[in-house]
Parts: sequence; structure tokens; C-alpha cells
Amino acid sequence: MIEAVKAWLKRHGVLKRDARFDCPVCCYPGEGPINIEKANFFVCERCGVSWYVGWNLFSSWRKETPADWERNRFFLSRFKGIE
Ligand SMILES: [Zn+2]
Repeated sequence: MIEAVKAWLKRHGVLKRDARFDCPVCCYPGEGPINIEKANFFVCERCGVSWYVGWNLFSSWRKETPADWERNRFFLSRFKGIE
């Protein structure tokens, strides 16, 4: 699923450089996207980390509201943000 999204983004030239959908720590696929407005994040539950994937790479934010982003911000606060 994630690989398919990644391939699509590459094909459409959205991915300028390799966005990391796999956990930078354990290399297992991350979960996401979790959006705060147009900023897309992924998390790894097993490592307890979150990382920034990109800006507006996923259009799912369009269906979300400020209340969703507030909830996502709270969700992300449980994770350690890493590069
Ligand atoms: Zn991990």
C-alpha cells in the first residue's frame, strides 16, 4: 500500500527526493499519513517515533478539519519527533 503510494508520487513527480515511509529506526513500514494541515507525518508505534514526510504529498488533509489536526497534533505528541 505504502509502496504503491510512493510509486504513484514518484511517477507524478511529486516526490523530488525519496520520502521516508519506512521507520528510520527499525526500517519497518511506518503508519500514516497523519496530517497537521498540509504537513504529512508518519509514525512507528513499535519505536515510538514520528517523522515528517512532506508537505501536501497526500490529499487526505482536504477531508479533515482543524479539529482533526488538533487531534493529530495530540496523537503525534505521544511520539518522539525525529528527522
Ligand atoms: Zn520503528
